[in-house]
Amino acid sequence: MSSCLSDDALERVHADLGSIAERAHLAGCAACTGRSRRLRRDLDLITAVLRDTREPLTRVAPARRRWMPAAIGLSTAALALLVWVEVAVWRAVTPVPPTMQPQEVAAILSDVSASLFSVTGDPAAGEEGPLSLEGMAREVDSTLTGDEP
Ligand SMILES: [Zn+2]
Repeated sequence: MSSCLSDDALERVHADLGSIAERAHLAGCAACTGRSRRLRRDLDLITAVLRDTREPLTRVAPARRRWMPAAIGLSTAALALLVWVEVAVWRAVTPVPPTMQPQEVAAILSDVSASLFSVTGDPAAGEEGPLSLEGMAREVDSTLTGDEP
């Protein structure tokens, strides 16, 4: 009696591809018949599972994670638009004030200092009237040095 069939030979016999000698051995060997029955049972189980089991569900990502790339893109676009409006549109629309003349600056500073250093709170009722820039400078200088103006 020849040696028992390999697993490959049993699979060939099961698929009706076995040789005459393999089929003859399987018909006369109890051990190979038992292995062939187990092989057929396993193949039937695998076939049933593949045929009857539902496909696994694919995991769906949470909604907020799906929207995160879109939210980041929209935020970036909004920021770029804001910067563009600030740089290009706003500067083009807003008129640039003319530069002030030194006399105007001196007059404004004189009014401000008269208001700040007025004793009565009313700059027009000051003892000496609004101070000029030179007067203010002399006053500050005399205060710091202690000399009388
Ligand atoms: Zn055998």
